[in-house]
Amino acid sequence: MAGRILIADDVATNRIILKVKLSAARYNVLQARDGAEAQAMARAERPDLIMLGQNIPDGGGAKVCAALKADPAIAAIPIVVVASSDNRAARLNALEAGAEDVLVKPLDEAAFLALVRNLIRTRATHDELDRRDGTARELGFAEPRQSFQRQARLALVGPDPQEAISWRAGLGRMLSERVHLLSVDEVLSHMEPDEAPDAFVIAASIETRGDGLRLVSELRSRTATRHAVIIVQARPEDADLVSMALDLGAQSVVTGEFDACEMAVRLRRQVARKMDADALRKSLDKHLSLALQDPLTGVYNRRYAQTYLSRIAAQSAAAELPFALMVLDLDRFKAVNDTHGHMVGDEVLVEVARRLGANVREIDLLARIGGEEFVIAMPETNAAQAARVAERLRRVVGDAPVRSPSKGIDISVTMSIGVAVGGAAGTSVEDLMESADNALYASKSEGRNQVTFVRNANAA
Ligand code: GH3
Ligand code: MG
Ligand code: MG
Repeated sequence: MAGRILIADDVATNRIILKVKLSAARYNVLQARDGAEAQAMARAERPDLIMLGQNIPDGGGAKVCAALKADPAIAAIPIVVVASSDNRAARLNALEAGAEDVLVKPLDEAAFLALVRNLIRTRATHDELDRRDGTARELGFAEPRQSFQRQARLALVGPDPQEAISWRAGLGRMLSERVHLLSVDEVLSHMEPDEAPDAFVIAASIETRGDGLRLVSELRSRTATRHAVIIVQARPEDADLVSMALDLGAQSVVTGEFDACEMAVRLRRQVARKMDADALRKSLDKHLSLALQDPLTGVYNRRYAQTYLSRIAAQSAAAELPFALMVLDLDRFKAVNDTHGHMVGDEVLVEVARRLGANVREIDLLARIGGEEFVIAMPETNAAQAARVAERLRRVVGDAPVRSPSKGIDISVTMSIGVAVGGAAGTSVEDLMESADNALYASKSEGRNQVTFVRNANAA
């Protein structure tokens, strides 16, 4: 998922260096020269990320950062401050002003790009949760968002027992929450979602060099900790592990001596955001169980999809971002029912929905809109990406048979897919849905088990 990044710095060479790196990684770059211009541009263009030069006019990185974060229209956009030298006080100021991270020049390119990717992904997930919440509200499931928040659960895995105790003592002076010391085995043991920590601070190297990173990827892959905050603390000699830690799913990596004050600032902010997202997910789960969920497969239903699609179409048009719409229909499904019975047919539908859901992103919407027909909406997705995903979904359904739990038999099914990409002003959901439907029809008449793609004439 590419994105738009606003670079705000008064020194042209600073902007150019960043622009070259970001453009090469396929990001769209906007530029501003001072705080006021950055704010105006952020309001007008809604970038996915803002990179602020530390010495930017209108008060410097921290002050401008605070001003941007105080503007509700743009407060959700993540900010990274880029400093020319490592200065603890300046870094703390920027973090306290709301910056997601502070980078020091010269930038390590891999780590820099990994951080940008993570920040943009987190932002997109949050936007998507908001959009779903809005859709549920529009459909009349308005419920005040829970403002009460429980105490956060914090966990720490130090490089050795002694340092772990000293890290915890430092954090204990800065935070009101208790910090639990965990061993590697405890982290790897089963955790219930209701008991799992909200945040982990993990040493990059524990018993062997880089073994902390294995914990990061393990935590990310588990349901109970998938959305947890993970901050990795790396020694200076582990600096080459930074980009890998970020790629494996750490939100941030701090290198150098453990600094309890800085860690506490990072934890407070990231945990607050995580708990906010948790609250949104919870309220969505509640809405869902009411009337917006398909009772058989658990995915969204047609009614929800219609309202949601109007919303995403309008937002994509406003932001000039492409979004993809896919209609998927099982091939000759009547024959499955006729041969094995309706109950087995239902079991196949459940498994197909599961496979589809497991192969799209959290920000993609999957809904069942008819008997054996599904729709998938993919925000911020262009034609090439949509084509890849559609092909993957086709294979994920067709390549391995579905085992019927009730009869213990294997049933092979295939799926035909139609894809349309829209997003530019003037493409209505109806038009796009019709394009995708026509494409699906073409897949059927061309022999089924295939993907047909239409690129809408005025798509972005
Ligand atoms: P094709 O799409 O390839 O043209 O053929 P098809 O046989 O899948 O298409 P058709 O639209 O003629 O039939 C759809 C069938 O899907 C009808 C019905 O047997 C089955 N079906 C629809 N909803 C359900 C459901 O909720 N459960 C089960 N078990 N079957 C369903
Ligand atoms: Mg069918
Ligand atoms: Mg059908």
